[in-house]
Amino acid sequence: MTRTLITGGLVVTAAEEVLADVLIENGTVVALALPGRHQWSAERVFDADGKYVIPGGVDAHTHMELPFGATVASDTFETGTRAAAWGGTTTIVDFAVQPKGTSLRAGLDAWHAKADGRCAIDYGLHMIMSDVNESTLREMPGLIGEGVTSFKLFMAYPGVFYSDDGQILRAMQQAADTGALIMMHAENGPAIDVLVEQALARGERDPRYHGEVRKALLEAEATHRAIQLARVAGSPLYVVHVSAREALAELAAARDLGLPVFGETCPQYLFLSTDNLAEPDFEGAKYVCSTPLRPKDHQEALWRGLRTDDLQVVSTDHCPFCFKGQKELGRGDFSKIPNGLPGVENRMDLLHQAVVDGHLTRRRWIEIACAAPARMFGLYPRKGTIAPGADADVVIYDPHATHTLSAATHHMNVDYSAYEGRTVTGRVETVLSRGEVVLDRGHYLGRPGHGAFLPRSTCQYL
Ligand SMILES: [Zn+2]
Repeated sequence: MTRTLITGGLVVTAAEEVLADVLIENGTVVALALPGRHQWSAERVFDADGKYVIPGGVDAHTHMELPFGATVASDTFETGTRAAAWGGTTTIVDFAVQPKGTSLRAGLDAWHAKADGRCAIDYGLHMIMSDVNESTLREMPGLIGEGVTSFKLFMAYPGVFYSDDGQILRAMQQAADTGALIMMHAENGPAIDVLVEQALARGERDPRYHGEVRKALLEAEATHRAIQLARVAGSPLYVVHVSAREALAELAAARDLGLPVFGETCPQYLFLSTDNLAEPDFEGAKYVCSTPLRPKDHQEALWRGLRTDDLQVVSTDHCPFCFKGQKELGRGDFSKIPNGLPGVENRMDLLHQAVVDGHLTRRRWIEIACAAPARMFGLYPRKGTIAPGADADVVIYDPHATHTLSAATHHMNVDYSAYEGRTVTGRVETVLSRGEVVLDRGHYLGRPGHGAFLPRSTCQYL
């Protein structure tokens, strides 16, 4: 048996903040006690005096090795989970993809093959359904039984991932019957495609037009439609990467009616804006993702939504493409820029900065980054908190250290940082994953294959 003791830190969970020592045995948290009020000894002791002791981050939205058009997201499960650990995240939930014309089974097996034996931290999988039909609908209960309990549909990307309203309704009906959670990319893709064509015909080819054609109203319209379809089907709904104030208003209205409707936003929508998309010399391509970055004045609404619980989760939608050779595919045609930003390593720090800046309380930071995603996707209380019985996924976090985010020092396999040069207050010091030390004071001690697949239960908010 290996015993680990973390002494003297401020243990912060979504529920409370308490000065406590944390005892870990064989990968599991077994007890918390007031410092000096116990007789515990351990082979390994971490002094967390003056530090926070927080649950490892749960990033419920990543895309390792995602094929996108002619290219593939640049982080593998090996490099991406290592970078996640550097940033204090100890669980990711990635998206297995069903390519059109194949089964969910084939897509899920392919994703298991990519991840198995390569991850530094634990991981779960959602399933992207790009082909809703009789046969894939019949596959859903089987996947739920294997712990893949959430299914993502797209109202955007016609011809690739897109589902029409009838298909969406049918998947939602199946979700209502089985307890699955439908995750929605809510943007009106067919309308956006018309605007893309018109913009290109006018010679509007720079990255900033990506933000102009993917209109906030078309995100709001799709969000509204998804909510109404979910009501008709009697299913819950989780809207991914909410970026527009108008879309958030749709979620808030639905929640005011008591509907089981949930929303996620991402750090890029909280910290970046269309100003970045407009950076000259094609630099704006670094910030092309969908839903797109919005004008700065949307940010305050998103922060408010996080405080009022109209948004419950902050994930990264980590989907990195190198500037050289990947983002550059869209030089002269913004519609060919691969959609996605790197961020899995930066989320915990950026959200702590939001605590420093007064947008969030410490406990809300842990709730939106750890506890709520764990509950939303059936991993709580094994993940997302520090309590007896929980996995010892624990981060010792120095709230006073400062560091500067940069591609020169980050660990994601991508040649730029979306937050280049930004100094943040707060830094990960030590990371444990199921009691094993993955990172300690700048030394990486993790290994591919430590991370295990996490079969998940259904949504714990229902
Ligand atoms: Zn995504």
